[in-house]
Amino acid sequence: MISERLVHPVPVKLSTRVSRISESATLRVSRRAAALKARGISVVDFGAGEPDFASPPAAVEAARRALAEGFTRYTPGSGIPELRAEVAEGYRRRYGSPWTGAQTVITVGGKAALFELALAVFEEGQEVILPSPAWVSLPEQIRFAGATPVEIPTRVEDGFRIHADDLLAAVTGRTRAFLVNSPCNPTGGVITPADLRRVVECAAERGLLVISDETYDHFIYDGLEHASVAALAAEFPETVVLAGSFSKTYAMTGWRIGYVLGPPDLIPAIEIIQSHATSNPTSFAMVGALEALRHCEAEVEAMIAEYAARRELLIPRLNAIPGFQCRPPDGSFYAFPRVADLYRPGRQGSIEIAELLLEEARVAVVPGAAFGADDHIRISFACSRATLAEGLERMAAVLAD
Ligand code: PLP
Repeated sequence: MISERLVHPVPVKLSTRVSRISESATLRVSRRAAALKARGISVVDFGAGEPDFASPPAAVEAARRALAEGFTRYTPGSGIPELRAEVAEGYRRRYGSPWTGAQTVITVGGKAALFELALAVFEEGQEVILPSPAWVSLPEQIRFAGATPVEIPTRVEDGFRIHADDLLAAVTGRTRAFLVNSPCNPTGGVITPADLRRVVECAAERGLLVISDETYDHFIYDGLEHASVAALAAEFPETVVLAGSFSKTYAMTGWRIGYVLGPPDLIPAIEIIQSHATSNPTSFAMVGALEALRHCEAEVEAMIAEYAARRELLIPRLNAIPGFQCRPPDGSFYAFPRVADLYRPGRQGSIEIAELLLEEARVAVVPGAAFGADDHIRISFACSRATLAEGLERMAAVLAD
């Protein structure tokens, strides 16, 4: 006899924790674009936040060799010691930070680094101050950990610069941390070293943390200086925490290698969480990442030069499309044009504009609503110049009508 339960399945009762968060809208757009592509329709994909370059050949070869040599077992949960030491050493060389390999945990991508951090330091009832628009996962991870994201608007007029004054004005008795992502996904906005110092000084006085997501640290233009908390770690060792990633810098998104560096007291907590969540990041991927750090700077330089050239090509042509207004981003590989001038009765909001561009121009972009900025769309220039030119032409043709 067929059970009543099979005929009328009872929905799975999900945890309250998971009901606090929602699916990443960036994934939703790529799914729709993928569905069109699967039907054989040509879609220009400006949606993905993923370099179009191949991973550096030396990193690939090192990982291949590690696999062939049987480096396929569990490693220490916090990552292989050589990679931990090399990541710390890289920051020491660039910024004079005192962090050692023991203060470095290798994680399953930067996303896991930030997630584990959120679980390790945020409590129910606490507030975390972050600039907005923000990368979709940052507020969701804060909520998942039970805390409340306090989103502080940055402004289109000054290229979405992150200002210390704005962040500091939001501090309350419930504040636990500042979470700064510079250069920012999606806006490309940055914080200056002087402003970052002010935030860190204020945090140190009050016993708060400054968590710095430096995933895009190499992608900064027009001679601007990247503001890293690594430069402040010697002075404020209990206050600053850095999350980073190999994904964008080395075009190694699928390898899933990121890291956290921070105060000695915090690191064991991250290690415990990771030991119960993922255990070590993939063994041979870490060997590839180590090779990338040691020997692939030339590839990184070449990729950065190419992003800079694409940015030069893209921004003027975007501004030539009726209804688009876009400042050159200071960093990252995203343009974040304002598109509110395209609104019409019955066509309001960035989701409608993204749908219009996908359905009529066959160009995939991410609606700014996903990041808390509904009058904008995000256009990734991590794609070839030919792809950029094709997408620009398609958008211009549809929007000229
Ligand atoms: N931080 C920001 C701002 C990002 O945009 C991303 C990826 O898109 C990440 C962190 C995490 O990247 P990954 O998990 O690939 O290292």
